[in-house]
Amino acid sequence: IEPQLSGDFATLMEWADGVRKMKVRANAETPLDAETARKFGAEGIGLCRTEHMFFDPERIGAVRQMIMADTEDGRRDALSRLLPFQREDFLELFRIMAGLPVTIRLLDPPLHEFLPHKDSEIAEVAQSLGADVAAMQRRAADLSEANPMLGHRGCRLGLTYPEIYEMQVRAIFEAAIAIAKETGKAPVPEIMIPLVALRRELEILRALVDRVAQEVFAETSHHIVYQVGTMIELPRAALIADSIAESADFFSFGTNDLTQTVFGLSRDDAGKFLPFYVEKGILPKDPFVSIDIDGVGALVQIAAERGRKTKPDLKLGICGEHGGDPASIHFCGATGLDYVSCSPYRVPVARLAAAQAALTGTGGDRTA
Ligand code: PEP
Ligand code: MG
Repeated sequence: IEPQLSGDFATLMEWADGVRKMKVRANAETPLDAETARKFGAEGIGLCRTEHMFFDPERIGAVRQMIMADTEDGRRDALSRLLPFQREDFLELFRIMAGLPVTIRLLDPPLHEFLPHKDSEIAEVAQSLGADVAAMQRRAADLSEANPMLGHRGCRLGLTYPEIYEMQVRAIFEAAIAIAKETGKAPVPEIMIPLVALRRELEILRALVDRVAQEVFAETSHHIVYQVGTMIELPRAALIADSIAESADFFSFGTNDLTQTVFGLSRDDAGKFLPFYVEKGILPKDPFVSIDIDGVGALVQIAAERGRKTKPDLKLGICGEHGGDPASIHFCGATGLDYVSCSPYRVPVARLAAAQAALTGTGGDRTA
């Protein structure tokens, strides 16, 4: 894939690349995202969210079955239908990224988005599981939550339904091995666990990744180098980063959720009164756009310091929306992050901001 930038802009980018210390990756989950990211000069995928992949009309029936089944067999049946799709998803991304790092985050849905809501959806799930409709209605009600964004999502779902993460990890390794066979060059998958708050969550899920990796390697007589890391997106994870780092090869700061949880402010409803705060000067800027240095930023610094105390070579990145915001990128540079990851279209801005960060060494403006 050829870079799309040309002329003076391309020259400016080359100068920026010559001075910046941080790498710039993109958040990408579709082949189009990945191609766009490469055209703008991304040096890898820093966050491949896997949630949207499951909404494809061909898959959603199996996804609903996977969530609604109350037996492991029922879930495994649905997952066996989803595995080929996931393998293809990762195969395409690895192919496009051609050996550049690809961080794949295991499933992190707000659960309600996967639950059947309409009668016809409930009837369909009931049929696929051989269950009666009333039982499925009760199960959907049991699984629904008052606050899905603070509920059964991220690694919590991976712990309660380990088969889902097993399927995804298998798909990642099967795809990576297929690419290695096809091109002679193996991708290095970086598998990322979302919404970790407790050391034990990461320990258990890292063991799951390692076990499934060994199974796939034994079946295929192929070995792939990989890394396992975690999102740092809850204040507790930032505070216990020294112990979390024992099970992580990298940290990626999920500053969207970190902002939500530090402020106690729903990401989805922030637009309702935040503009008033900014207009009145109660907050100097929208913390969902530009890192709040005093709260979120302090936790990022604590986590970086504590994580690297345990593991001096711990790789650190950011994949929240802030990874594409120049002021936040300055802060990331001053905090010693190895890379920022942002929307594909923001990659040039990030390359420039990372260069400015390296030249000035400043860390962004204080919030309050
Ligand atoms: C985040 O929380 O910053 C993040 C990148 O994850 P998501 O936006 O998917 O929750
Ligand atoms: Mg998040």
